[in-house]
Amino acid sequence: MSRITWILGNWKQNHRPPAAEACAKGVAEGLTEALREPHPSAGEVRVGIAPPYLSLAAARPFTRPGHGTWLLAQDVAAQDEGAFTGEVGPRMLGDAGVEGAIVGHSERRAYYGEDDAAVAAKLRSALGGGLVCVLCVGERLEARDAGEHESTVISQLSAAFSDVSPDALDERLVIAYEPVWAIGTGRTASPQQASDMHRTIRAWMRERFGSAGVDRSILYGGSVKPSNAAELVAVGDVDGFLVGGASLDPDSFLAIVRAAATTARPPEAG
Ligand code: PEP
Repeated sequence: MSRITWILGNWKQNHRPPAAEACAKGVAEGLTEALREPHPSAGEVRVGIAPPYLSLAAARPFTRPGHGTWLLAQDVAAQDEGAFTGEVGPRMLGDAGVEGAIVGHSERRAYYGEDDAAVAAKLRSALGGGLVCVLCVGERLEARDAGEHESTVISQLSAAFSDVSPDALDERLVIAYEPVWAIGTGRTASPQQASDMHRTIRAWMRERFGSAGVDRSILYGGSVKPSNAAELVAVGDVDGFLVGGASLDPDSFLAIVRAAATTARPPEAG
């Protein structure tokens, strides 16, 4: 069974409401054409955007259910409601028509002090609140250079899933491997580096959760562009992308969507 292919745009702190409306509209208008001839090995293809909180309402009319694009938030609170100034919980996101959230993005870990425990709490909150949860993991350059990239990512996974049971895992759980040294730098992981890490993550998920873990979509993120999307997805075990900079323009985002949807995947290793 092929896994779901996801192509998600993380707009970060960009696109105030008028620009968000234009970008979401552009994606909605071009989506049918971009998905016109998906390769059968891509399985079901889902496309989503994650605008800043205050631009969600402007993007909302151009997302599901009226259009094909999923609407996600870039973060979610670890708790549903209460005295937590500045936070937005999963139910509030659901009320706003948001279907998912990114959790543990490296910018939140680096700039806002989100540690493994905070990421784990947000993961439980998102899944418990019925949201699609895009859990981000990835090593810094020092870890890669020291040959500690796999142990770093495994330790992030172990922490994030420390209190999650296999029956809490379904297609709403998506993992994004985003090497920190490739985010916003123009430097992309090679297809082999991405594929190797995705296999490591999948093997860990199999060991930890059995079949509930092994079928989860694993996305790559880090300077994905229209020019490198096809070669990354063609290598195997890359089930789509989390895209930052190149998702801010509908044309470049849709070109990535088209490349991910139409590129043949190699047969899965037994
Ligand atoms: C991201 O922020 O998740 C990301 C992958 O950014 P970029 O594509 O700009 O490297």
